[in-house]
Amino acid sequence: MAAHQEKKLAEERKHQNMQNDTKASQGQWGRAWEVDWFSLASILFLLMFAPLIVYYFIMSCAQYQCSLTDPLLDLLTGNKHLSDIWNRTPMLTYRAAAIYSLWVTFQVFLYVSIPDFCHKFLPGYVGGVQEGAVTPAGIVNKYEINGLQAWIITHVLWFANASCFHFFSPTIIFDNWIPLLWCANILGYAVSTFAMIKGYFFPTNAKDCKFTGNFFYDYMMGIEFNPRIGKWFDFKLFFNGRPGIVAWTLINLSFAAKQQELYGEVTNSMILVNVLQGIYVLDFFWNEAWYLKTIDICHDHFGWYLGWGDCVWLPYLYTLQGLYLVYHPVRLCTAHAIGVLTLGLLGYYIFRMTNHQKDLFRRTNGNCRIWGKKPEYIECSYMSVDGTKYYSKLMTSGFWGWARHFNYTGDLMGSLAYCLACGFEHMLPYFYIVYMTILLTHRCIRDEHRCSSKYGKDWKRYTAAVPYRLLPGMF
Ligand code: NDP
Repeated sequence: MAAHQEKKLAEERKHQNMQNDTKASQGQWGRAWEVDWFSLASILFLLMFAPLIVYYFIMSCAQYQCSLTDPLLDLLTGNKHLSDIWNRTPMLTYRAAAIYSLWVTFQVFLYVSIPDFCHKFLPGYVGGVQEGAVTPAGIVNKYEINGLQAWIITHVLWFANASCFHFFSPTIIFDNWIPLLWCANILGYAVSTFAMIKGYFFPTNAKDCKFTGNFFYDYMMGIEFNPRIGKWFDFKLFFNGRPGIVAWTLINLSFAAKQQELYGEVTNSMILVNVLQGIYVLDFFWNEAWYLKTIDICHDHFGWYLGWGDCVWLPYLYTLQGLYLVYHPVRLCTAHAIGVLTLGLLGYYIFRMTNHQKDLFRRTNGNCRIWGKKPEYIECSYMSVDGTKYYSKLMTSGFWGWARHFNYTGDLMGSLAYCLACGFEHMLPYFYIVYMTILLTHRCIRDEHRCSSKYGKDWKRYTAAVPYRLLPGMF
């Protein structure tokens, strides 16, 4: 695999073209973001308010039965003061700190100490040492892909404890939810601050660092592209996958256990949320090698956005449906449940197939079949900072001929299904679809801006061939 990649890169380098004008326009792809006032304002807003937003959602469930308006009304009418709400909020406890430290240490251990064995017996699964994409400085990083294994070991231990050993209650996560929030925040801020200092003083690869000159922007969006400790501990791969995404399914299981404890049953809505989100999580780990080619790993630098986001935003806000269902055990009628399941599975199918088509197309360099036909594509080229010219292809058939980001459309359909599983009584579970729509639309625009500066006029030819972003004929 490595020898093949080396050969491919060497062949591509033969096509080196040092035209300075092209280099000036395309050589800075992946790092050409200038800090305009809107980006700066958004960053300051998020740095100040994102932790409060997370707190507000979790607090409104704990103190106001998940009503998003009642806390505000209480405050505005003088019925309650901020101090009343704060005084009723559980503080950081030694128990939560111990649980969280043990959890993160265990995930670090699984990540760095147990090389992947799943790829040796699971047909079709790609694990073990894999290569990422070429970075703007022209580097190809190697990754130990063992997330599926970490997920399986963690969940086997969870079920073994719940059914046999009973060392702790499966409701442990729900029972310590707010104290754990403080621990997650401490880790999120610590890792983002460490990443910033590391970027200045001991970067893993100095050529792949980005300094915009704006402290807040650099803190939020990151300086280093792929910060690492030692050869294998990759910050991006670790923090996004574990503790964030491994935790996602455990958190949902803990919420289901709490429903059982409180009401003597697990509702069909809770089962739907657990199953649909479980499929999404399992899909992530099954395709972890593919994840190396996504925007998070290929283009985003590691700062607060990924560091704090993975530790706090993801585990707390992506699991709001399960949390809501602990307070409101919604029982769906059969038609509603089937509708939610169908939408969730259809969304998942579109999401997976669209991602699969691009992955297959890129892996085989276009020598494959998409929907039974040879794929159509546009040839394009770009340059890395050292002036090396590379060639690539943008597919214009299959789902990629319908819209430029139909994978996001599938993702949004799945996200809507999670929300609809919670019924229509409260707004809180719908935060997820609102957030995902903003996230993926913004991501789509951000990605297209980057692709445009990477591919120049070839990108224009592509957007002319596939004119819509998310919804064919509409947007
Ligand atoms: P994509 O997988 O869509 O990757 C975009 C990149 O693919 C582009 O930068 C470009 O990279 C390449 N590309 C674009 N168009 C084409 C084409 N027509 N043919 C071939 N290659 C093309 O984006 P993401 O990495 O953002 O998303 C991956 C998945 O993860 C999505 O399904 C998304 O829904 C999901 N996701 C989920 C999130 C969540 O929080 N739940 C958050 C973010 C993503 P290149 O430079 O190589 O040409």
